Amino acid sequence: MQRVTAAILTLVISSAAAAQWAKICSSESANKVRGCDPQGCGGYNYPSAGRKHKGVDVVCQDGAEVFAPFSGRVVKQAKPYGNGNAIDNGVQLAGAGFCIKMFYIKPVKYSGSIKKGEKIGILLPLQKVYRGIISHVHIQNCDLTDPTPYL
Ligand code: ZN
Repeated sequence: MQRVTAAILTLVISSAAAAQWAKICSSESANKVRGCDPQGCGGYNYPSAGRKHKGVDVVCQDGAEVFAPFSGRVVKQAKPYGNGNAIDNGVQLAGAGFCIKMFYIKPVKYSGSIKKGEKIGILLPLQKVYRGIISHVHIQNCDLTDPTPYL
């Protein structure tokens, strides 16, 4: 009985570890959720403009390198606004059981395979569009569930 419990525990712990994402931004030592600033807050479900924030904002400096959180592929280009402003670019990624969109990056490519931790783009100039904001990569799950546990 104890052995079974131990085996289950080991399984749970190892699958949780497998789900953990790589560091996302070269300017930070670890993935960190954007706190609050004059433009709002970066946590999942934070209310903004009458809607809830269905993603999580990971702190990153303008121009920093952005890395693939997991191995898989770039599915397609994904734009947050579609208005063509200075930060209106990003990608949709899939792999390792995940499907996510990452916004505010200038991607190095719009298709093909990616390795966990590989450079996939550069953070666009958020300060030009949202002065005083804590610059960040916006990450959302394709099904809009909370990505925070994977950071
Ligand atoms: Zn966001």
